[in-house]
Parts: sequence; structure tokens; C-alpha cells
Amino acid sequence: MSNTKIFLDESDIPKQWYNVVADMPNPPAPPLGPDGKPIGPEALAAIFPMALIEQEVSAQRWIDIPEPVREIYRLWRPSPLYRAHRLEQMLETPAKIYYKYEGVSPAGSHKPNTATPQAYYNKEAGIKRLSTETGAGQWGCALALAGQMFGLDVRVYMVKISYDQKPFRRSMMQTWGADVLASPTDQTEAGRKILGQDPDSDGSLGIAISEAVEEATGRDDTNYSLGSVLNHVLLHQTIIGLETKKQLEMAGDYPDVVFAPCGGGSNFGGIAFPFFADNAAGKNVRLVAVEPTSCPTLTKGKYAYDFGDAIGMTPLMKMYTLGHDFMPPGIHAGGLRYHGDSALVSQLYNEGLIDAIAVPQIATFEAGVMFSKAEGIIPAPESNHAIRACIDEALACKKSGEVKTLLFNLSGHGHFDMAAYDRYFSGELEDFDYPEEAIRKSMQNIPKVAES
Ligand SMILES: *Cc1c(COP(=O)(O)O)cnc(C)c1O
Repeated sequence: MSNTKIFLDESDIPKQWYNVVADMPNPPAPPLGPDGKPIGPEALAAIFPMALIEQEVSAQRWIDIPEPVREIYRLWRPSPLYRAHRLEQMLETPAKIYYKYEGVSPAGSHKPNTATPQAYYNKEAGIKRLSTETGAGQWGCALALAGQMFGLDVRVYMVKISYDQKPFRRSMMQTWGADVLASPTDQTEAGRKILGQDPDSDGSLGIAISEAVEEATGRDDTNYSLGSVLNHVLLHQTIIGLETKKQLEMAGDYPDVVFAPCGGGSNFGGIAFPFFADNAAGKNVRLVAVEPTSCPTLTKGKYAYDFGDAIGMTPLMKMYTLGHDFMPPGIHAGGLRYHGDSALVSQLYNEGLIDAIAVPQIATFEAGVMFSKAEGIIPAPESNHAIRACIDEALACKKSGEVKTLLFNLSGHGHFDMAAYDRYFSGELEDFDYPEEAIRKSMQNIPKVAES
């Protein structure tokens, strides 16, 4: 039997990230300001350091990873690639299944891959504090960790309902030295406005973003940090796919299909874009973003300019969107509850160069439990979406007899999501219908932009 784990040496940690823009057939649609005109770098300089702004607009294929960032990466990278021998046997499929495991990071997901360089470039720019938002807590943990490594203070606006329901994610952030507030707070204008309307507000990601951005805009020593969606975030995450390609080469294999869960698109871009480079050079790997049927941004959304946050403070980005004020149903894959998507992923999907599918919640937990029973690792609810899609493909291979090689990104572990598994076991978990009426309404509020 071939190896179950395929390891790289620390010296094999990539020295450069891969920028997909270099291989896209068309240049990315630019972000627009409130006047409908493309924004310049200076519009972002109030909240981001110049090094990240340069990466945001770069078309250079390879971008160097600074040595201090590689040094922190060594704490958990290279992450292992697994051959899922036992899952293959359980499914009785002729397909070969591989998964890249990002749950080995201290925070338990892929998110520290970008939190680390973001903290580094801010430190280099003389910034002392970072502000950010977190929903379920994955991103807040990643930035708290990275801030600690580079000696930056981190303030996290955590959506109030999660602050109350996920106390251990909050404790993790505090362990790494972050200051965690339940959003909405009375410390920002945005927060006070919401509390004035509804003193018992549960909060939302959109509100928390508004609070974090307001704080960064108002203080010279503070910048803002975002955990997904933006081009520089996807750039940093390509370390996942670059390592995977080396590992598959060691195994003497190459994928026919690559799956990843897709919320804002960062772990999907991270594993898929380095294979997109091969497609641009003539290969034909199917790259599949997997999203929830209750928040079907790519598969049912509209490709249009829209705001990144709920209130309309961010620049307009051309992306698949369900409308910036769409409130997704309360599924347990909190990281996939976002109305929009990365502009890069959106453009490639619009041009037919990548694929997307949507899967319902209960089926994702069923897949996650099957996976745990075969492979041991208990996946994050977000990751279960990719596992569902991969298992379905492996079962199709069983029918057709095809020997495909399948790869998915296991973006994180589910150790802090066991309450969601409990609900699945007790039969309380629901499959939300496609929220057609709510989406129809929020789509009407997508701003009308005259595109030149
Ligand atoms: C945040 C998160 C996601 C979704 O975010 P992307 O930016 O789409 O990658 C997926 N899986 C896990 C474990 C997460 O924490």
C-alpha cells in the first residue's frame, strides 16, 4: 500500500506565493468607489499597509514570501497530504482520494496562512494595533495568534451571538492576547447606532465589519485586517496548493478533480489556483467550489458590483452576490455564510474556467461523520461541504468504474463545532430551503453601477 501521509521537509516550504492574475485570460475587474469610478491605492491606505495594497493589485506571477513569515509558517507547515485509503475502502470506490489537512495550524484552520503575513506587513509599516471582526471565531483566532507572534495588539469584534455561544473560541483569542468585544458595542458609532435601534441585537458579520473598519479608519496606529475575499488573502493561501503539488508529485499522482468549501473563496483559491496555472498551460483539472444550498452565492447569485459589508462602507467589488443585506439562514458552517465571494473566484467562474456546486446541510454532516469514522479526523462543518462533493464523485466512479484521482482541502478541524454535530445526531439539524424570497428582496438592493 502506498503511504497514508505524504510529508515535505520544512526546507520545502514554498519561497513564493502564486498570483493567479498572471494566468487569467482577462485582467480583474477593478474595485469602484462610491462615484462608480475605479479606486486608487490611496483609498485603501487608511486601513491597509502599502505592501498588501501592492499585492492586491499586482499582476506579477510569483511574489516572495518574507523570511520572518516562513519562520512562523514552520510552526505548522508544511501541512500533511493524506491518501484516504480507509475512506476509499469504506466507499468501495476505484477512485483515489487525497486530502490536504489545514487543521494542523494552532488555530485549527487555513486562516493563519494569511493572518501571519498580514500581521508581518503591518508591523513592518509601523502599525501597533489591528482591528478585525469574527463570526464563528476561526478568523479572530488566526489573527490573535499572528498578532502575538509579531507583537501587535489585536482587537476582535465578535458577533454577539457567537460570543455567547462559542466561549472557547473567545478564550483561545484571549490566550493569544487579543481583546475580544461582543459586537455591537457601545464603543463605535456603528455599534451605538445599531444598539439604539435594537438594544438586544445579536449582531452580524456585516455590523462587526463596520465597527472594525470604523476603529481602523479613526486611529493612526491601527489598521484593519480581513480573513478572506481580497486578492492578497487568496495569494497567501496559494501556499496550500503549491505544497500539495509537490506532495502529489512525490506520490506519483495528479488530480482529475479538486474540491474545496467556498465561503469568501480563500481556501478554494488557495488549493485550486496553483492547478489553474497548469490548466492555463494545457492541463484539464476540474476545480470545484462547494457552497451551501442555503447561501448559494456562485450557483444562484448575480455577477454584479456590490458592497462587501452589510452597511455599505467598503468599495464596490464585481462579484457573485446575493445582495449585501442578505441575511443567510443560521447554518452551522458559519464560515460559509457570506453574501458575496472573492472577485478573482467570481471572474473565473463567470468565464467558465472553474466550477461550483451547492450541497444541503444535513448531507454535509452525514459526509463528515462518514469521513470521521474512516479517517479519524473530525472536520469543521465548512470542510464537510467539500467532503460531501468528493464522496459523491467517488460514488459516481464506483458506478462507472472510472479510476479518477480526487483531491479536497480539509480546511479545518471541528473540535469547537461539536454542538453542531450533537444537533445532527439528535435529528434537530434542518435543511433550509433555498431562501428565494429573501434573496429576491436583497438582490433589489444591489447598487446600480454604470460600467464603462
Ligand atoms: C473560514 C473558513 C472557511 C471559509 O472561508 P474561505 O475564505 O472560503 O476559505 C472554510 N473552512 C474553514 C475551516 C474556515 O474556518
